[in-house]
Amino acid sequence: MTARILDGTKIRDAVFADLSGEIARLGTVGVRPGLAAVLVGENPASQIYVKSKIAACEQIGLASWLHTPAASVTTEELLALVDRLNKDDAVDGILVQLPLPAQVDTKRVLEAVDPAKDVDGFHPVNLGKLVSGRPGLVACTPAGCMEILRRADVKIDGANAVVLGRSDIVGKPMALLLMHANATVTICHSKTRDLPEVVRRADIVVAAMGKAGYVAADWIRSGATVIDVGTNKVTDSFEAERLLKNFPARLEKFRAKGSVLVGDVHPDAANTAGALTPVPGGVGPMTITMLMSNTVKAARLRRGKPDARAGVPSLAGAGSR
Ligand code: NAP
Repeated sequence: MTARILDGTKIRDAVFADLSGEIARLGTVGVRPGLAAVLVGENPASQIYVKSKIAACEQIGLASWLHTPAASVTTEELLALVDRLNKDDAVDGILVQLPLPAQVDTKRVLEAVDPAKDVDGFHPVNLGKLVSGRPGLVACTPAGCMEILRRADVKIDGANAVVLGRSDIVGKPMALLLMHANATVTICHSKTRDLPEVVRRADIVVAAMGKAGYVAADWIRSGATVIDVGTNKVTDSFEAERLLKNFPARLEKFRAKGSVLVGDVHPDAANTAGALTPVPGGVGPMTITMLMSNTVKAARLRRGKPDARAGVPSLAGAGSR
């Protein structure tokens, strides 16, 4: 294996250390940034995600509040809760954990969140700000990918970047962030012709398709940087053999556990790429990290406090100041 491993857990720790300092400094001027999480019903996966988000708040010194409406909640009731949180001056960030139950109009609820408190960066106002390169809150996963690239000193300026996937929450904002950072960006999707040839031209590949090991190692140009957003649970043993035949220890773990997490890029790309994010442990830890970062940023922007980390690289990168 030759690629430099871009370790998301180490980058998370470095960002958390910066954020703790920033939160302590805001404390000296009487500001304690806070995140309100809305967790509807009892979806076990959502419960785990929200628990990790609240634990991260506690770890770095953010205030947090958890609201847990029942699964039978109506759109109107959720809109009333969001309205209360919008008006609560102690709340800097509002997180509505998805998915919401079928009877709830998810789009209406998300669009009711005050854009200044939209720490997920999903609101159309924040997407518009990202398009036009104005200060705003950027979706956490693509902001986390930029943070990895910057902290790993990967040259973006002038690079050919290929983004695989065009979703509103990953592919599109990722492409915009890379473009604002002066990369030449190609966005690919399921109708793109000759994907391997397009990927072979890339200095930076961001894969966000949701297809286990789809990007073959020989699509990756020697020395390219690979940011693998894909998080795919593989349970089929034939598939696991195909993906992990050169990783006997991981294959052994799969046999013991019956499942393994694999990215969108074939693990053998570790022999062709110059640097890559592992799955798990690459982009994954950065999503909660950037949620914390966005909450501090929202507090700063909303309360008119300057960025006390002058000289410290931007936490969310270009277009997200
Ligand atoms: P999504 O909404 O399903 O979008 C997938 C995108 O991939 C679509 O634009 C689709 O193209 C494209 N695509 C699918 N098959 C393709 C193919 N054969 N060739 C080229 N493009 C193809 O997914 P998402 O929400 O963006 O998430 C993508 C992946 O990232 C998933 O594995 C998800 O689990 C993971 N993820 C991880 C994190 C994290 O924290 N690590 C966070 C968010 C997402 P069309 O538009 O043409 O359909």
